[in-house]
Amino acid sequence: MQDKIWLSSPHMGGNEMTYVQEAYDTNWVAPLGHNVNEFERSLADYIDVKQASALSAGTAALHLALIMLGVQAGDEVIVQSFTFSASVNPVLYLGATPIFVDSEEDTWNMSPIALKEAIDDRISKGKKPKAIIPVHLYGMPAKMKEIKEIANFYSIPIVEDAAEALGSTLDGIKMGAWGKLGVLSFNGNKIITTSGGGALVSDDETLIEKSRFLASQSRDDAPYYQHSEIGYNYRMSNIVAGIGRGQMEVLSDRVKQRRKVNAWYKILLAEQKGIHFHNAPTKDYYSNYWLTSIIVDPKETGGITHNDIRLALEKENIESRLLWKPMHLQPIFSKYPFYSTGVSESLFEKGLCLPSGSNMSENDMERIKRTLKQILKF
Ligand SMILES: *Cc1c(COP(=O)(O)O)cnc(C)c1O
Repeated sequence: MQDKIWLSSPHMGGNEMTYVQEAYDTNWVAPLGHNVNEFERSLADYIDVKQASALSAGTAALHLALIMLGVQAGDEVIVQSFTFSASVNPVLYLGATPIFVDSEEDTWNMSPIALKEAIDDRISKGKKPKAIIPVHLYGMPAKMKEIKEIANFYSIPIVEDAAEALGSTLDGIKMGAWGKLGVLSFNGNKIITTSGGGALVSDDETLIEKSRFLASQSRDDAPYYQHSEIGYNYRMSNIVAGIGRGQMEVLSDRVKQRRKVNAWYKILLAEQKGIHFHNAPTKDYYSNYWLTSIIVDPKETGGITHNDIRLALEKENIESRLLWKPMHLQPIFSKYPFYSTGVSESLFEKGLCLPSGSNMSENDMERIKRTLKQILKF
C-alpha cells in the first residue's frame, strides 16, 4: 500500500522546535510565557486587530466569546447551519438555543436574506437573538458586508467563526477582523497548526483581556485564590505557542501553497462536465482555499457521484471528505428552529473536499490525478 495522502496534514515550517526549546530552556513549561505573548502579538498584527488571546481550542474561543456577550440559558443564538459542530456546541454548553440559518449559493455561507428573515421572526416571537455566528467554510469569506449591515441594524454582535479562514480576506480585510470577536483554530488539520489550539481576536481590548481572565480560572486580584466569577482552564500552553510562533513565520507561504493546489485542481478538471468548484463570487473575496471543494453533478458526469470519487480515492489510500453535514440535519440539533434556503442540503448531497495539504508532493499530486482520471474517464 502506498503512503496515505491526507485531506490536510500538519506542515511545519522549521523554526517551531527553536521556540519550543526556548520554552524548555527558560523553564516556561506553563500556560503562559514568552511564546504565548509573542504568538498573540503576531496573530493580532497579521489579522490587523488590536489584540489576540491564545486559547486551548477554537471551541474554547467560541465558548468564551458567547459568555462575554452575556449569552445565558434560554437565550437564542443564530448559527450558520452549514458548518462543523464546534460552531454550535458552545451555544448548548450555555443552555442557549441555536437558531440555524441556511447558506446562499455564491459563498456557501450564511444567507443574508435568510438571516434577516430569522431575526425578524425571532423578534416577532418575543426573543431577540443574542449573537450571530457566521462561518467562512473551507476558507471562503461569508458575505460579511451584508451580514454586518443587518447585525448593525438590529444591534446584534457578530462572533465570526474564522477557524477555517486564517489568511482569507474580504475587501482586503482579514477574516476574523469583521466581527466583534473573531475565532481562530490551530487544530492539526487547519492551515497552520499548534497540534491543538485556538484564539480570539478583536479590536476590543477589554474583551480580549477579559477572555484571558476567564481562561485562567477567573482569579480576582487578591493575594489568595479568590473567585467572583466562573472560571475556565482554556489558556494555551507556552510549549504549544512555540509551535504557533514557528507556524506564523510560514503562514503567508501556506496560503499561497493552498491556493496553488486549488488552481492545479481547477486546471486539471476544467474540461470535466458536472464538476463545479467552490469559487470566490467576486475579486473582493480572497479565500485561503483551506480545502478545495467541488460539487459533483451525476447528471453531467455520466452517473459518477461525489461518493464514487471519494471511494475511488480511498481505494488508493487517498483521503477526501464529503462536505459538512448541515447542523439542522444532525440527530442532536434537528429539533432547533431552521431558516431554510435549500442550499446547504443540495450542497451536502453532491459535495466533496479534495486533498488540499500545502505539503503534498508532486508524486502525491500525480497519484491524485491518475485516480481522478480513472474514475472520471478523461
Ligand atoms: C476546526 C473548527 C472549529 C473548532 O476549532 P477547534 O480548535 O478544533 O476547537 C470551529 N469551527 C469550525 C468551522 C472549524 O472548522
